[in-house]
Amino acid sequence: MKCKICKGEAYIKIKYPKMALCKEHFIEYFEKKVQKTIKKYKMIDPEDKVLIAISGGKDGAVVTYVLKKLGYNVECLHINLGIGDFSKKSLEYVKKQTSYIGVKCHIIDLKELTGKSIPEVKSRKPKCSICGTAKRYIVSKFAYDNGFNVMVTGHNLDDEAAFILNNVMNWSTEYLARQGPVLPQKGKFPKKVKPLYELTEEEISAYSSAVGLEVFSEKCPFAKKAITLEYKEMLNKLEETRPGTKYRFVMGYLKNRHLFEKEIEDIPLIECKVCGMSSSGEVCSFCKTWRLKEGIDLKIGND
Ligand SMILES: [Zn+2]
Ligand SMILES: [Zn+2]
Repeated sequence: MKCKICKGEAYIKIKYPKMALCKEHFIEYFEKKVQKTIKKYKMIDPEDKVLIAISGGKDGAVVTYVLKKLGYNVECLHINLGIGDFSKKSLEYVKKQTSYIGVKCHIIDLKELTGKSIPEVKSRKPKCSICGTAKRYIVSKFAYDNGFNVMVTGHNLDDEAAFILNNVMNWSTEYLARQGPVLPQKGKFPKKVKPLYELTEEEISAYSSAVGLEVFSEKCPFAKKAITLEYKEMLNKLEETRPGTKYRFVMGYLKNRHLFEKEIEDIPLIECKVCGMSSSGEVCSFCKTWRLKEGIDLKIGND
């Protein structure tokens, strides 16, 4: 296989649109596609102050690398969840990758902040759900306290296709109404965007090694094999014989999302009486789960 552009040695064979590219032209293709996605969905303006939540996966490192290269005003936030060796290794990985990329990375230690790490918090809810709430809350609060107006996550085409399929299988119409490449700002929650929305996991892995980022393969000990992983495998099988399946599925969803919108119950946001963040109830679920008596302040000094 030869590169479609320069006829040099192919580095990757992209399934859809079908083409082979050398390393140099693949890097160019990938970055152009991210820039196009940002424009297409009006994700980020050059004057925006962008916060990237980076947990330790390659998607976070890749999105950081590309946005920095494209010249956006980005900083990262990593939360140390205190899940033993997994969290220690995640932290090391994040520090190493962000210093390689040359981007500022803020680190928040959940236990120092609230007195309890993820394994220590007592709740009847499953660990993954508690952890998800904590991460979403801390990132939003950090963005709000420090004037970041856009939050970036590394979700890709495979994640989105699997998420939509899962919600179709369960007919979770309310989730189907709320998903997408851009979630608008609401109350004190900043706008959330997914610049890797139209790129596949395979392309992201290939880009990651092409630009010299490292792979992190440690798994969280609490994570069970999620059903979305099975959907991902299924969709990849379909993709083999019917290239473009994932892309068409996600684009078709965006076209038809309005059909689900009447399912959204528009609960007005009020301020949590403990921390002051936007919340649908009197006390937000983070303050409730962590049994906080007063709100946490995440404002950073001018260091
Ligand atoms: Zn080439
Ligand atoms: Zn609260």
